[in-house]
Amino acid sequence: MLRKIISVLLTLAVILQAAGEVNVYSHRHYAADKKLFKAFEEQTGIRVNVVKASSSELINRLAKEGMHSPADVLITVDVGRLYKAKQLGLLKPLRSDYMVSVIPENLRDAEGYWYGLTKRARVIAYSLDRVDPKTLSTYEALAGDAYKGRLLIQKSSNIYNQSLLASMIAHRGAEKAKAWAAGIVENFARTPTGDDRDQMRAVAAGIGDVAVVNTYYIGQLLNSRRFSDRAVAEVIGVFFPNQQGRGTHINISGIGVTASSKHEANARRFVEFLAGEAAQRVFAEVNYEYPVNRNVAPSELLKSWGVFKEDAIALERLGEHNAEAVRLFDEAGWH
Ligand code: FE
Repeated sequence: MLRKIISVLLTLAVILQAAGEVNVYSHRHYAADKKLFKAFEEQTGIRVNVVKASSSELINRLAKEGMHSPADVLITVDVGRLYKAKQLGLLKPLRSDYMVSVIPENLRDAEGYWYGLTKRARVIAYSLDRVDPKTLSTYEALAGDAYKGRLLIQKSSNIYNQSLLASMIAHRGAEKAKAWAAGIVENFARTPTGDDRDQMRAVAAGIGDVAVVNTYYIGQLLNSRRFSDRAVAEVIGVFFPNQQGRGTHINISGIGVTASSKHEANARRFVEFLAGEAAQRVFAEVNYEYPVNRNVAPSELLKSWGVFKEDAIALERLGEHNAEAVRLFDEAGWH
C-alpha cells in the first residue's frame, strides 16, 4: 500500500513538474506581452509569473539573489542590459537549434546567452509641415548647424541613446562619436525631457522639428486611445537615416535564461514560444515591432514606412561600447 502511495505521489510530482511555472523578470512595458504570456499558459499549462521593473533594478536584484533567485528568464528592452547581465554572470547559455535557425546571427549572442525577441529601428520623426524629407540624410547630419534649436531627443541616461552612440563608437571611433554628441547638444530644441513619445508630441507642438525615436512609439501614437496622440502621429513623417552608408541603427528587446534558473525546460519552451511565428506576429501587430524571426513579415503599418537598410553590426558590440558611450555623453555635456 505504502509503495503504491509513493508511486502515485511520484507520478503526481512528475506531472506537476512537467507543467510547473516559469518566472520572468521583465523590463518590457508593453501590452503585447500580457497577451503572449496568457497564450503561453493556455498552450502549455506552465504558469508565467512576472516581476516587472527597470532593467537596472532587475539586474541588481538578480545579482543580489545569486543562485537563490527564483527568476528563470530576464527580458530587457535593449541589448546593452543583456550584455551587462552576461558579463555579471547572471545568465547561462541556452543551446537551441530552433533559435539559431530562426534568429539572424547579429541579433543573438554568439554563445546563446541571450536572443533578440523583437527589433526596433531608431529613426528620425520629422514635422511634415516644416521639414522636407529630401533634406534629411544621416544621424551625423543632425549634429550640423542646419538643426540648431530644432532637435528633440531623450536624455543620455536613456539606453536607446546609449546604444545609438555605442554604434557610432564601433563604426567611427570614440573621437567622432563624442564630437557628434556635442553637436547634438548644441542643437537641442530644449533640455531633454520625457520619453520617445514626448519628443514627437514636442514636434507636433512646434517646440522642435525633428525627433529621434524608436519606430514602435510612432505606431503607439497612431493607434492611441487619446485623440491628441493620434493627432501628433498625423503630422509626423518617418525617415530612416544612413541609408547610403551603414544603415539605420536597430536594437532589440531580448531574453536570456538566468544562471539560477530552476525550470530550464520551461524556460526553453518560453523562449522558443516567444520567438515562434504566432508570438512574433503578436509583437508586430500589437506593439508595432519588427519581428526577429526570419519567417515572419512585418505588419502592414511597418511595411507602409518602407523597407530600409539596417545597420548589420553584431548587437553584442553595442554592449561592449556601452560604458564608453555613457562617459562620452557626459563629456559632451548631454545629460
Ligand atoms: Fe521602449
